[in-house]
Amino acid sequence: MSNSTRDIEGLIDLMARLPGLGPRSARRAVLHLIKKRGMLMTPLAEAMQHVAATARECVSCGNIGTSDICDICADPRRATGEICVVEDVADLWAMERGQVFKGRYHVLGGTLSALDAVGPDDLRIPKLVDRVRDEGVREVILALNATVDGQTTAHYIADELEGRGVTVTSLAQGVPIGGELDYLDDGTISAALKARKSF
Ligand code: ZN
Repeated sequence: MSNSTRDIEGLIDLMARLPGLGPRSARRAVLHLIKKRGMLMTPLAEAMQHVAATARECVSCGNIGTSDICDICADPRRATGEICVVEDVADLWAMERGQVFKGRYHVLGGTLSALDAVGPDDLRIPKLVDRVRDEGVREVILALNATVDGQTTAHYIADELEGRGVTVTSLAQGVPIGGELDYLDDGTISAALKARKSF
């Protein structure tokens, strides 16, 4: 194998590690990128380099942006006293696409899991308790996946927040069992939020 072929194979191997891409799709994608070098590949490479250098987690909510405090946390109009708790940044972005939630978020970074030895301190749960105390939060909306771990985590958080003067609610039925928020359409997310119930 020549050096040049090895470079291209190396790129294909990297692309194949992306979620949803296997070796075959990676090969097609790389071929497409090379054909569209000026239109697509160079701008993509530049954008990736830029985001790799600037992307960071919001120190308050865990959202991903390019500053220490994300745009949502920095927006004073979103200080509504409501915090929506999600497992992952992808869930936050899914909620935002629904355009109905006007409060702020808290990204846990996963769920409690005995199997994977994930405890409360591995997630952003202590930080959530701090925010409830410091930010005048009246309602915490749990938007966790309907998996066993998601629901265990929801109960744990509800227990932690008990007696702290905050109402804990959860999204209404509509989140499919084992389904992730990111796969729901915007209308379903809006409906599940509007019909949220006391947890
Ligand atoms: Zn934030």
